[in-house]
Amino acid sequence: MSLPNCPKCDQPYTYEDGTMLVCPMCFHEWTEESRKAAEEAAKLRDAFGNEILDGTEAIIAMDLKLGSDTIKQGTKVKNITILEYPQDGHDIQGRVDGFGTLLLKSAVIKVR
Ligand SMILES: [Zn+2]
Repeated sequence: MSLPNCPKCDQPYTYEDGTMLVCPMCFHEWTEESRKAAEEAAKLRDAFGNEILDGTEAIIAMDLKLGSDTIKQGTKVKNITILEYPQDGHDIQGRVDGFGTLLLKSAVIKVR
């Protein structure tokens, strides 16, 4: 059985020490449970707690002001891409029906 890479420095030299996994490169220690919990916490979620993945289709979960326009609740969002580097709290990008490609916040969409 191969051990996972270090979640901190991504080096493959992990060894087991009792129930702990240890990385000799950066001295990070963790358990499989803590790693899974961290992975779970890092997932991007919509307004209802559903996981957002690249390519997900969604709808706008609430009316959004966009300048003098309003994107109505229920408007389709396609081709969602998760931004590696969020901009101004916007963590996804998607093509919004009638508005083109926009930066959005994960908390304003609902995954279909
Ligand atoms: Zn490490």
